[in-house]
Amino acid sequence: MLKGKTALVTGSTSGIGLGIARALAGQGCQVMIHGLGDPAVINAEREAMTEEFSVPVFHDGSDISTAEGCSALVSAAEQALGGVDILVNNAGIQHVSPTESFPPEKWDSILAINLTSYFHTTRLLLPGMKQRGWGRIINTASVHGLVASINKVAYVAAKHGVVGMTKVIALENAEGGITCNAICPGWVNTPLVQAQIEARAQALGVPNEEGAKDLLGEKQPSKRFASPEDIGALAVFLCSPAAQNITGTALPVDGGWTAQ
Ligand code: NAD
Repeated sequence: MLKGKTALVTGSTSGIGLGIARALAGQGCQVMIHGLGDPAVINAEREAMTEEFSVPVFHDGSDISTAEGCSALVSAAEQALGGVDILVNNAGIQHVSPTESFPPEKWDSILAINLTSYFHTTRLLLPGMKQRGWGRIINTASVHGLVASINKVAYVAAKHGVVGMTKVIALENAEGGITCNAICPGWVNTPLVQAQIEARAQALGVPNEEGAKDLLGEKQPSKRFASPEDIGALAVFLCSPAAQNITGTALPVDGGWTAQ
């Protein structure tokens, strides 16, 4: 379905981003994966995707906590792919602490990576999409773009910002062929959440499996994790012709979390 299209997925060396990149490549889309990690592991994943889906897959490792890093990533993507039709802003980090002891440098890095990088990549790639008359911008927000939890002041602020930014980009481009939407996952079992599972298990003095159950039971009524593949399938749908009139939305994939 996406043969001839190109995609940049930020933060796709693991977790949800990797699930989205694999789903897009599975539709014949040329993909640039992006993010940090062990170069050998990343290269193996890149080669495996190329082989499995018979599409070129590239990687860039720019640190996108600065405007310069975002520019470097966009330049690398445009050079490798010859233009970016689908931008998935997905990179993100987390830090959990009450507001009064929340380290200001963590606030700065969460806002830079989880929100400001989405602005930079979008502003840099919109002109090319406009020129070609087609584009899909998909922002990985979170249920925390819609509701709050304690001890996540920077993350919740950044994710609410992503949902707001998504609406503005959607409205500014509503009459063209460009849509912009946010996906709002609840708990997805990825390295980012693994740290929180371990912390919960440790606090309760139980095995990690019980920690995961406790985490799910608290907020996610389905009591099941979503998978990176679930999120990838939604991203593919948002790139499909059937989704041409879906824009400015924030779509929860949260097992009922935000229905409560
Ligand atoms: P993850 O830790 O598996 O992946 C994060 C990705 O971001 C990695 O590829 C990492 O290399 C990249 N990254 C982090 N800092 C970077 C930097 N400075 N420069 C470049 N790349 C950087 O996490 P995940 O759970 O897959 O999260 C992906 C997105 O989904 C995040 O935006 C997160 O907030 C969001 N999200 C996750 C969940 C969940 O339950 N896992 C729920 C809701 C939203």
